[in-house]
Amino acid sequence: MSATASSADAQTVEGQGQEPLTDGFHLVVDALKLNGINTIYAVPGIPITDLCRTAQAEGMRVVSFRHEQHAGYAASIAGYLTKTPGICLTVSAPGFLNGLTALANATTNCFPMILVSGSSEREIVDLQQGDYEEMDQLAIARPHCKAAFRVLHAEDIGIGVARAIRAAVSGRPGGVYLDLPGKIFAQVMDAEAGRNSLVKVIDPAPAQLPAPSAVSRALEVLKGAKRPLIILGKGAAYAQADEAIRELVEKSGIPFLPMSMAKGLLPDNHPQSAGAARSLALKESDVVLLVGARLNWLLSHGKGKAWGEPGAKRFVQIDIEPTEMDSNVEIAAPLVGDIGSCVTALTQGMGGNWAQPPADWIDAIEQRKQANIEKMSARLMNNSVPMDFNSALGALRAVVKERPDTILVNEGANTLDLARGIIDIYKPRHRLDVGTWGVMGIGMGFSAAAAIETGKPVLAVVGDSAFGFSGMEVETLCRYNLPVCVVVFNNNGIYRGNETNPLGGADPAPLVFVKDARYEKMMEAFGGVGVYATTRDELARAVNEALDSGRPTLINAVIDEAAGTESGRIGNLNPQSALSKKK
Ligand code: ADP
Ligand code: MG
Repeated sequence: MSATASSADAQTVEGQGQEPLTDGFHLVVDALKLNGINTIYAVPGIPITDLCRTAQAEGMRVVSFRHEQHAGYAASIAGYLTKTPGICLTVSAPGFLNGLTALANATTNCFPMILVSGSSEREIVDLQQGDYEEMDQLAIARPHCKAAFRVLHAEDIGIGVARAIRAAVSGRPGGVYLDLPGKIFAQVMDAEAGRNSLVKVIDPAPAQLPAPSAVSRALEVLKGAKRPLIILGKGAAYAQADEAIRELVEKSGIPFLPMSMAKGLLPDNHPQSAGAARSLALKESDVVLLVGARLNWLLSHGKGKAWGEPGAKRFVQIDIEPTEMDSNVEIAAPLVGDIGSCVTALTQGMGGNWAQPPADWIDAIEQRKQANIEKMSARLMNNSVPMDFNSALGALRAVVKERPDTILVNEGANTLDLARGIIDIYKPRHRLDVGTWGVMGIGMGFSAAAAIETGKPVLAVVGDSAFGFSGMEVETLCRYNLPVCVVVFNNNGIYRGNETNPLGGADPAPLVFVKDARYEKMMEAFGGVGVYATTRDELARAVNEALDSGRPTLINAVIDEAAGTESGRIGNLNPQSALSKKK
């Protein structure tokens, strides 16, 4: 244990006599600060209300949300952006459960976060005697996170926080649960002993070097490739090995495809980007190098129609998690280690005269790219009113091109699928979206944390349905005066807004909302700027103004209610009845 807790200034607890004392509240705050954690995303209440106050009084930034799920999403994306676990602080039972969705989502996405929840009295909970908000939170959290800990004594807070931090960021990052029963906060101890109990985590995410034999194997496979492809995933973006990745891609000359949150790791207008020729690149490639990307559903599990001839492809995979290898298909050359170290080893191993990929492969991709770009361009310029998804996104694409520092947050169905392809991203970690689960509701939490952690302007492009999950957090954006511009793609419903009740009854169809809802007034209600936009010009002008002013803004972008498609691009995952009446 380290005694060099310089930032950990324990307080004298008032009315406790001469000896300087500290307590559980201060020890939690000191333990976090000692480890460079200075922001907490929270919803205050019993028993952590005074922890929120103490943290603010001790100089931490405490960002209060209206619902724990959004505080949790904020914490998780803060972890992704900074490689330091984001902290979400909640009350017991219901607050804890509200935060748990975000914790599970963080674990699934490999984002480091720590859900810290107050809990009720252990003795009563364990005997099931009916305490206020009684729940065995530790047991419930455990299957949804990477690690779960409970601290029962104030003198163990330092070690508990240290274990939580290391578990969250080392190896494959993920969510960690830290259970703090309410009693612990008021526990008092000698201030110096308290200071000495704190632990500074040294080298929380140690480098993990790949074995030289694994590097040679990977290079052999790449060397034999006729149609090589690199797929960059959000693990690569998370790793913050941006320069090393660029060097590998450029030296190898291999075309690359970014997964959605890896867009911008190399700019989408990079000559080697195969983004606009995605299907061809996946299907026709013979060797694929995966860098921090899993062969899960988002990549059709590495097999099937999208991947061409069965068995014709060989995979090289870089991942920090050994058991990720062969999860879906055989990996010819597994490269286990951290991305920075693995990528650097590959680049070095390529030596001075690495052969560039065959010209016919590069030409084939280039031709398909140009053809697809041309096909798309008319749709992006369409000025019809009401706007459709493509035309509205065309306007936003131009805005982001002018303002590459903007961080894009994106959720929805059609709004998500089409924006992913249309809006180019130019910088690493500047696109944040629904991730591995495709979860709706990340919008306002991600936006708030992105603004807070980076100080950059945020543009949230969200479907009207997606927005509904976190809409109340516009109050949070206004309260903290965050530079977030929310564009709600309002097509009156889920997928489309024009469905009707097949029986003609008074109830609307389950997928539609109030027609022409005025979402912008929600932002106005809390002092932000609201704009109702029906044309591309109005939309672009309003976004530019919002990003210039830095004021929280909500633009209600009116989209043709007939424009969407069912489930966006994942209609194949949406079972449909052949028997029921639909209209
Ligand atoms: P995407 O959805 O973009 O394909 P995934 O979340 O599926 O990305 O994959 C990310 C992968 O990156 C995970 O398998 C994770 O283990 C890995 N990963 C995360 N951080 C690192 C790192 N620093 N070094 C190596 N691999 C990492
Ligand atoms: Mg909609």
